[in-house]
Amino acid sequence: MKYKKSIALLLAIILCLSVVPVYGQKYYDDVKDLQKQLEETRKKIELTKAQQAAKQKESKNVSNQIVELDRKLEEAEKSLEIVEGQISELEGKIAITQRELDRATEEAETQKELLNKRVRVMYQNGSSSYLAVLLNATSFSDFISRLDLMRKIINYDVNLLKERKTIRDNIDQKKQQLEYEQQQKEVLKNDLSSKKEEVESVKSQKEQVLKEVYKDLKELERQEDKLLEESAALTKKILQLQSSEDYIGGEMAWPSPGYTKVTSPYGYRTHPILKTKRMHTGVDLAVPSGSNIVAANAGKVILAKYNGGYGNTVIIDHGGKISTLYAHNSKLLVKEGDIVTRGQVIAKSGSTGLSTGPHLHFEVRINGNHTDPIPYITKSKK
Ligand SMILES: [Zn+2]
Repeated sequence: MKYKKSIALLLAIILCLSVVPVYGQKYYDDVKDLQKQLEETRKKIELTKAQQAAKQKESKNVSNQIVELDRKLEEAEKSLEIVEGQISELEGKIAITQRELDRATEEAETQKELLNKRVRVMYQNGSSSYLAVLLNATSFSDFISRLDLMRKIINYDVNLLKERKTIRDNIDQKKQQLEYEQQQKEVLKNDLSSKKEEVESVKSQKEQVLKEVYKDLKELERQEDKLLEESAALTKKILQLQSSEDYIGGEMAWPSPGYTKVTSPYGYRTHPILKTKRMHTGVDLAVPSGSNIVAANAGKVILAKYNGGYGNTVIIDHGGKISTLYAHNSKLLVKEGDIVTRGQVIAKSGSTGLSTGPHLHFEVRINGNHTDPIPYITKSKK
C-alpha cells in the first residue's frame, strides 16, 4: 500500500514538472478569460435587470401621472363649477336688486306727482299759506274745523316729505348694492377665467403624457397589457358582486343618447399603433366631453369609481348575470348600491384613464366576461 502511494506521488510530481510548465500558462489564461466572461455576463444581467426595473418604475410613473392628472382635472372642473354656480347665484341677486330699484324709482315718480299736485293746489288757491286759510275763517267753529283740516293737510304734507326721503334713501341704497354686486361679479368672472385656464392646462398636460406613451411602443404595450389585466380583475369583481336574480328584461337603451358613431369596435383587432392583434373588450363611442351617459337598462350599481386605465367607471348589474360597463367618464352621478332606471343619467362623458380624447368605452358582460355589446343596444340606436 505504502509502495502504491509512493508511486502515485512520484507520478504526480513528474506530471507537475513536465505538464505544468508546458500547458500551465494557457490553462490559467483560459480560466482568466472564463472568469472575465462570467463577470461581464453577470454585469450585463445586472444592467438588464436595472433597466427593466427602471422601465417598470417609469411605466408605473406614467400610470401614476395619468391618475394624478385625472384627479387634478376633476378638482379643477369642480372648482370651475363652483364659481359658475356663484356667478349665476349673483346674477339672480342682481336681477332682484334691479327690480327693487325699478320699483323704488317708480314709487318716487308717483310720490313726486303727488307732491306736485299739492304744490299746485296751494298755488291755485292763491292763499298759499296755511295761516291764510285759518285767518279766512268766518266763525269760531269754522276756525276749529279749518284748524282740524289744516292739521290733517299739514300731516299729509309732512308725511309726503318723509316718504320722499325714505324712497330716495332706498333708491340710493339699492344703487349702491347693485354697484357692489356688479363689482363682485367682475371678481368672480376673473376667477372663472383663471379656473378655465387651469382646466385647459391640466388637459394639455395629460395630452402630453399620453403623446409620450403613444410614441414609446413598449410603454404603450405595457399600458395596454395593464388595461387587459384590469379587465380580468373586473371579471372577478363582477362575479363576486352580481345578483342571482333573473334578467330585468327588455331591450337595452343606447348608452350615449344622440351619439351613435362607433370609433372602435369590439373584439380582436390590429392595434392601430402597435400593429399587433389585441383584444378590445368593448365598443368606443365618440361622445363630446360632458355629455349624458345613461344606464342601458334598470339595475343596481355594483361599481362606481376611478379604475386605473378605465378611468371613472360605472358597472350596473341587470340580473341574469348580465352587466354593463361605462368607462372614461369625467364625472360619476351614481354610487355603489344605487338602483337605477333604464335611461337614467349615470355619468358625464370624459377622457379619464388611458384615453386620448373624450369617448365612452361601453361593455356588456355575461357572467363577468366581455362580449360584443353592439347586438344588445343596436335596436335602440337613435
Ligand atoms: Zn375602448
